[in-house]
Amino acid sequence: MLEFSLDALPEGVKTTGWMQVAPRVDGGMWRLPVLSVRGSKPGPTLVVLGAVHGDEYEGVEAIPQAFAEIDPAVLNGTLVMVPVCNLPAYEAALRSSPVDGLNLARVFPGQVDGTVTERIAHALTEQLFRHADFLLDLHSGGVAYEIPTLVGYIHDDGELGQRSLAAAQAFGAPVMWGHPLPMPPGRSLSAAVTLGVPCLYTEAPGGGSARPADVACFRRGILNLMRHLGMLAGTPETPAHSLHLVGDGNLDIVTTAPVAGYFRPSVALLDFVQRGEPLGSLLDFFGNTLATVTAGADGVVIMLRRLHRVHVGEGLLQVTNRLEDYLAMRP
Ligand SMILES: [Zn+2]
Repeated sequence: MLEFSLDALPEGVKTTGWMQVAPRVDGGMWRLPVLSVRGSKPGPTLVVLGAVHGDEYEGVEAIPQAFAEIDPAVLNGTLVMVPVCNLPAYEAALRSSPVDGLNLARVFPGQVDGTVTERIAHALTEQLFRHADFLLDLHSGGVAYEIPTLVGYIHDDGELGQRSLAAAQAFGAPVMWGHPLPMPPGRSLSAAVTLGVPCLYTEAPGGGSARPADVACFRRGILNLMRHLGMLAGTPETPAHSLHLVGDGNLDIVTTAPVAGYFRPSVALLDFVQRGEPLGSLLDFFGNTLATVTAGADGVVIMLRRLHRVHVGEGLLQVTNRLEDYLAMRP
């Protein structure tokens, strides 16, 4: 187990090591696991992240599985993968860090002299993203949310968007979800876009575990992306995607709860709903319906709250657009 350094990676072998990110109270260091391999031939540098949110586990399993399938002798370029990025949050099985309360996916590009989460973001940005030709960030719905298995990309006519779209098609998830620029701040993808690095992320139902089918989809997606980027020989093994969606992917601006209670949705993921249609209700302990949430626009249900009890103002669900509807609405 070596101290990770991208510059010092030996050619033609697989390396596992640790990236030191911030001091711990016990005098040790918070450190992130790194699985890397520099191929025998030159080529792009692909960075893959898992568990940026500490309760999202698909990438934690998919990354070492993909790593096991790489033969350094036939690899063009460099693959660097961090299966657990927010390690304090992962230890506590929480979305955000219990140490400083921060959501790692809201603090990129981070702070060199910041708190633990800000330092993790800074280390990933400076040591990895800055040297990357492509970034893949593996997320899921975690404990609180349910999201269909999908690959998300930058929906834009510029070169970065077009490279992101082509990579999303190669990745091979059942659903593609494009997000028009500008990206909301603080995400790994926003830091990547600022650095001019094309990028993808994923989602999956999550739920406090990792479904084998989603782990398999993400493992295959990593290898497909490497074939697409010319790092591995062959063409991507891409099953036809069933749905292509475009809209704002910002889970901070979802439909929120007008009252506290518990949530009972009346729709399922990927249902097509029409403006004004009831989507679910908030109830109290006596069975009274406190509020009914309705669709603000026509679209597809892309996120549903899974966590039962709801504080006022918390996210309940999100509706987005089919590609054809998005293009028809665009001026
Ligand atoms: Zn996430």
